[in-house]
Amino acid sequence: MTRPPSVQDAAGPVLNAFTSAFGGAPDGVWRAPGRVNLIGEHTDYNEGFALPFAIDLAAYVAVRVRPDRTIRLVSTHGGAEGGGGVVELDLDGLTRGTSPGWSVYPAGVVWALAARGVEVPGFDLALGSTVPVGSGLSSSHAIECAVATALTELTGAGLGAEDLVLVTQQAENGFVGAPTGILDQSASLRGAPGHAVFLDCRDQSVELIPFDAPAAGLAVLVVDTKVAHSHADGGYASRRAACELGAEVLGVEALRDVSSADLAEARGLLDPVTFRRVRHVVTEDERVLETVRILRAEGPRAIGGLLDASHASMRDDFEISCPELDLAVDTARAAGALGARMTGGGFGGSAIALVPTDRTGAVRDAVLSAFSRAGFAQPDLFSVSPADGARRVI
Ligand code: ADP
Ligand code: MG
Repeated sequence: MTRPPSVQDAAGPVLNAFTSAFGGAPDGVWRAPGRVNLIGEHTDYNEGFALPFAIDLAAYVAVRVRPDRTIRLVSTHGGAEGGGGVVELDLDGLTRGTSPGWSVYPAGVVWALAARGVEVPGFDLALGSTVPVGSGLSSSHAIECAVATALTELTGAGLGAEDLVLVTQQAENGFVGAPTGILDQSASLRGAPGHAVFLDCRDQSVELIPFDAPAAGLAVLVVDTKVAHSHADGGYASRRAACELGAEVLGVEALRDVSSADLAEARGLLDPVTFRRVRHVVTEDERVLETVRILRAEGPRAIGGLLDASHASMRDDFEISCPELDLAVDTARAAGALGARMTGGGFGGSAIALVPTDRTGAVRDAVLSAFSRAGFAQPDLFSVSPADGARRVI
């Protein structure tokens, strides 16, 4: 099982990359984690609840302010993600669609900070990340949150985590061009070790909920199926549209305002497909609230059934699972997981399983052999723990 590297180990490559690309030492190194959504899927744009946590895999940025208006960026990842070398941008010429590759994330943050009146100077930045790219653990938000945390400190802008949640949302919506909410960056910026981040997407308030899986003898195992279905974008848009239609027909501002007691009546008002989409969101909100209650009252070992029910709802009502995710979830459970569900937007990506620590090897082996037997590509498996939110490390 892959173990997360220590801060020093993880920051080492980024310091080396900084020095070899730019010479000398950075002003500091900032770290921001990826995230896993424990429960609460497709609830964010319905003004509902979600319960992500920051993980012990993170993006690290080494940054040094420059005396001019140039931004230079380098990543320890070679190839397509890293762009293969130093990217140079003009601070005064940042416009949507002009930043190549991953530079769109730091550039988007600079753009969003500038839009708030923060005077961002030129800087050199080296990025290194232990968050796997494109697995649904939000490697892109980890970059944005690390850059935002570094720049608010280096500029003396004094923006807190609540502000940076909005800055990174603005970067995504206005510069990267992704219509995302606040879930990923709320976890990355506001997470804490041994806790999940209970998020109310209506008023954007957060509360830390005890979720110390390791202390309870549990691991959260991520199964990255490496499947990226081509209909993911269209599927997301059509699910969103169904939720909006449901809210309109039911005469509420958002599906957050519907409870499971209203579902019997809703069934008569909605077409069967829209009804099932609505039922997923309504019951998922209630599962998040129930998970929070159980975590407080009994601890992480008791939430397995809620994870299972969440998966069934996404598979049958929201119809966003796929054979690989279903196989990962079913196999993990059969091999000893207390509960398992797909996580993220769906149509591929990752599943999570809550596994007694002494069963992680057995679950991993069972999933790998089930995938081979089914003729699916081999998935990646990682164990993650709830970790600290974004902060300076050097
Ligand atoms: P996710 O956020 O779920 O991992 P995305 O597609 O939203 O997937 O973001 C992945 C993108 O983030 C990559 O295509 C790349 O542009 C960028 N990225 C993530 N990590 C790195 C890294 N270490 N170096 C360079 N780019 C990275
Ligand atoms: Mg992303």
